[in-house]
Amino acid sequence: AKAAGGNRYEIADPESDERAITRHGLTTALPAALERGEFFIEYQPLVRLGDASVRGAEALVRWAHPQHGVIGPDRFIPLAERTGLIVPLGRWVLEQSARQAKVWLEALPPEERDTPLRVNVNLSPAQLHHPGLVADTVEILERIGLPAGALCLEVTESALIGADEDLLKPLRQLAEMGVHIALDDFGTGYSNLANLRRLPVGVLKLDRSFTQGMQQHPADPVDLKIVEGIVSLAHSLDLTVTVEGVETGAQADHLRRLGCDTAQGWYYARPGPPERLRELSLADAV
Ligand code: C2E
Ligand code: CA
Ligand code: CA
Ligand code: CA
Repeated sequence: AKAAGGNRYEIADPESDERAITRHGLTTALPAALERGEFFIEYQPLVRLGDASVRGAEALVRWAHPQHGVIGPDRFIPLAERTGLIVPLGRWVLEQSARQAKVWLEALPPEERDTPLRVNVNLSPAQLHHPGLVADTVEILERIGLPAGALCLEVTESALIGADEDLLKPLRQLAEMGVHIALDDFGTGYSNLANLRRLPVGVLKLDRSFTQGMQQHPADPVDLKIVEGIVSLAHSLDLTVTVEGVETGAQADHLRRLGCDTAQGWYYARPGPPERLRELSLADAV
């Protein structure tokens, strides 16, 4: 390649080339994958910190690729988002998750069915902008017979930054129906804490970065203070706080002491097949 002079050549980086090809291959394979049923969902329990009982689970999609094996969502959700496939894929995830929540609900003894296990479903920005969101969600809940209160939709903080009323309206409508709305990855964006009041959100999901500082004893005192402040503000606004990425008992102890309500992480359970959650929650009910 010519180093100096007017013309500059792009020097091919074999690794990024390969990555680009893979990305292209994955992108073009996405629609067929949905038709062929190559996606599946793992569920990760959401646990009440007070007594470690299972309160629900987050649905996390995976792709069982015939050549590449299981591919995680970080690798294909952005592609699906860019191509618009996220709308039908997201609808599929919602429908599967709602069916699963119905199965969990029916396995509970009748006296516990009014506080059903919640299923949390991630909503990407493109889904939020899609005009069919409310109608599709209502249709799925009605067809399956799942109470709205058994569903929680997770929206990232960054998707709502600077959101105007038009974007918030569908979320508001869903919240009025009883669907829970969670603000995902909270603390990673630049949201104005006072802005929270404006959002139809009932749950804050504190990003994993906050729990990381609590991995050892002594925990990072600044992290403790920040989380303490967020929890007290959230509670004063009637929001519940879920923490992500709890990997150790020490973290769980800190977070419980700081007043966090619910936790999710490898310390409790990795994402897994839906049957496992049923075993866990039925064991708690005894
Ligand atoms: P997220 O919504 O923040 O989900 C939490 C991620 O943290 C999951 O990664 C989960 O497996 C991982 N995790 C859970 N506990 C721990 C822990 O203790 N330690 C660590 N290090 N990680 C933990 P996963 O399954 O790879 O999902 C990545 C992201 O992909 C999700 O981040 C979410 O943004 C997106 N995603 C997953 N499923 C869907 C979906 O159905 N629709 C949309 N739109 N996005 C999805
Ligand atoms: Ca999430
Ligand atoms: Ca998250
Ligand atoms: Ca995340």
